[in-house]
Amino acid sequence: MVLRMSRLLLKTLRDDPADAETASHRLLVRAGYVRRSSAGMWSWLPLGKRVLDNVSRIVREEMDAIGGQEVLLPALLPRETYDATGRAAEYGDLLFALTDRKGTDYVLGPTHEESFTLLVKDQVTSYRDLPVILYQIQTKYRDEARPRSGVLRGREFQMKDAYSFDTAPEGLAEAYRLHREAYVRIFERLGLDFRIVSAVSGAMGGSASEEFLAPAAAGEDTFADCPECDYAANTEAVTFTAAVPAAVDPGPVEELDTPGTATVEALAAAVGVPAAAILKNLLVKVDGEITAVGVPGDREVDLDKLAEHLAPATVELVTAEDFALRPDLVRGYVGPQGLSTLGVRYLADPRVAAGTAWTTGANKPGRHAAGVVCGRDFTVDRYLDVVTVQAGDPCPRCGAGLRLDRAIEIGHIFQLGRKYTDAFRLDVLGPDGKPVRVTMGSYGIGVSRAVAALAEQTADAHGLCWPAEVAPADVHVVAAGKGEAAALAARAAGALDAAGLRVLLDDRDGVSVGAKFTDAELIGVPRVLVAGRRAAEGVVELRDRRAATREELPLEDAVALLR
Ligand code: ATP
Ligand code: MG
Ligand code: MG
Ligand code: MG
Repeated sequence: MVLRMSRLLLKTLRDDPADAETASHRLLVRAGYVRRSSAGMWSWLPLGKRVLDNVSRIVREEMDAIGGQEVLLPALLPRETYDATGRAAEYGDLLFALTDRKGTDYVLGPTHEESFTLLVKDQVTSYRDLPVILYQIQTKYRDEARPRSGVLRGREFQMKDAYSFDTAPEGLAEAYRLHREAYVRIFERLGLDFRIVSAVSGAMGGSASEEFLAPAAAGEDTFADCPECDYAANTEAVTFTAAVPAAVDPGPVEELDTPGTATVEALAAAVGVPAAAILKNLLVKVDGEITAVGVPGDREVDLDKLAEHLAPATVELVTAEDFALRPDLVRGYVGPQGLSTLGVRYLADPRVAAGTAWTTGANKPGRHAAGVVCGRDFTVDRYLDVVTVQAGDPCPRCGAGLRLDRAIEIGHIFQLGRKYTDAFRLDVLGPDGKPVRVTMGSYGIGVSRAVAALAEQTADAHGLCWPAEVAPADVHVVAAGKGEAAALAARAAGALDAAGLRVLLDDRDGVSVGAKFTDAELIGVPRVLVAGRRAAEGVVELRDRRAATREELPLEDAVALLR
């Protein structure tokens, strides 16, 4: 199909939008790909929609290749399902909430773990129906505190969200591996430069998670990267590697009375904070010293990962013999850094037989109390100075100085385990006829954000510069003049179209040749074919947008070269 610029809904702009801080924001607006509708809400214009569709197509192809089944769920969802998992509280102000005419509360989905769990509960009854991978490419809503950088951080945006369901942990590990490999293929095909880094699961919950980051100055994430080995982690996930156990005077400590059982939820309710704000401090012995290590409250403790993070120190469990831990004891403290609530419990996992303390916000930089329970007495045992990892800090794996870089989070994969299937009691009948609790993974790609990330990584001083697979056209044909030039350009467009290429034809009247060239550079189609100076001879000029090379050749040869 030939897209004619004389009829295209496209108005390129000479000037940058006043509020644009990043290259992708400036250029996608100036080149007429997107248009701001309201804060954090964007309209996709014809050229932008084509790029967005190309990204979606690649994502779809690779998701289908790992056996993913595409579905489409509503974006408007009953709030009660998000209350049931605690995520309404965890997301807090990030959730767009509304009420229907009957007074029922709804949210606009920020991500769909709840709905997919319920869908599978409704549809799947036997282990024979599993494993299953479901995905959708859908509009998501998050009332971001700082919507910025155009489509990089929208309040309404496109996400590919996938969910895997299995009966056994090995099945989850396999689904996770399949997604990880599919993501590598997707981002390679998109032409993105990316890194896979260890991440924290946050409000999503679950145990293991990794992010796909596209290095770019405009990114809002910082990751630590080892120049010597393959260690890479979001700095959010490595704060505790720099935690310094400090035997310092804690200052005044005031006890709070928070009775109840020592669950994260009970603690949260006792101190009036969302459950996700509660951080477990796992009590372990690091080189023989009892130490607390912060992990998010809704996350299972992965000791192997912990040992890896803290290497070369040896990590051992604090045993019940070390402290006579009581499962029913909860105490709260107000330390010098504000509220720091601690509790203990026995964990079912025999590897974590001893105990866990919880604090609020303990992975935030600052001083945090950690303690142990002995008999019924709780003693604040030590304080931790948690510091953010700095460039040059030793790599936890090999000791080399870490580099810090900025990046855009383009994908995030989670081994959720049973957080959601427990909440909705999703069981299937196992081979022995007994119910088995299902285990789950979730896997996101920021489809609209990937468009901006690509623009960030590939744009140059003249404008956008798309990789071939996502470009809005394969060839941009410029009619550099009227008469013979215009006629040759039309012939070129027809021949390229017949050869199966997607063609953008600049056939606009009343636009100078110079302005057409400027627009071609701004729009960023990788190959530009110009019909102008030597049109009478049937000779065209072929330009490579990225390499900025040009050669003159007969039209037929140009078509043969491009096809
Ligand atoms: P961020 O840290 O940038 O806020 P997130 O960790 O909250 O992202 P996830 O919940 O992991 O995001 O969602 C999966 C993917 O959706 C992200 O990896 C990202 O690519 C995309 N995404 C998240 N929020 C936005 C947004 N506001 N605008 C565009 N894409 C987004
Ligand atoms: Mg976010
Ligand atoms: Mg994130
Ligand atoms: Mg994320």
